[in-house]
Amino acid sequence: MDLIAIQAAISSLKSATDIARSLLEMKSMSEIQGKVIELQSALLQAQNCALSATTAQFELQERVRLLEAQLREKADWETEKSRYRLVSPWIGPAQVYALTQAAANGEEPHFLCTSCFHGGKRIILIPVSQEGWLQMVCPACKATMATGYQTLGAANYAEAY
Ligand SMILES: [Zn+2]
Repeated sequence: MDLIAIQAAISSLKSATDIARSLLEMKSMSEIQGKVIELQSALLQAQNCALSATTAQFELQERVRLLEAQLREKADWETEKSRYRLVSPWIGPAQVYALTQAAANGEEPHFLCTSCFHGGKRIILIPVSQEGWLQMVCPACKATMATGYQTLGAANYAEAY
């Protein structure tokens, strides 16, 4: 919370109280009018400071909400990550992350893009035939991995490689 804004609001309210108290001792109308103007100014100042403190508090709450969401996301990704293992399933040197059967939970075997995986994203590779050779392509980062095969069967779970 914005402590400076709160202290300023308290200080302005104290001034307003002092001014209001001094109003009782005023004798002439012009003295009273002058003090009323001072009083209005002090109240306005207090109102502005309170608004600043409220805004600062709202911004902090928003920041906490964002950070909590990021922490949840990170924890979810750590769980998701542990379901995969790095494998070299083809003739080529390409490595991909394959779903482990142990953590499949009924999900079909598939391969994930290594680059995207290291960036915290779960992107499933797509087989694309190019000039008769099968390549695995990442639809997100466009990484292309040569398999060294012209045809491939369905992907297996990580344990099979
Ligand atoms: Zn990728």
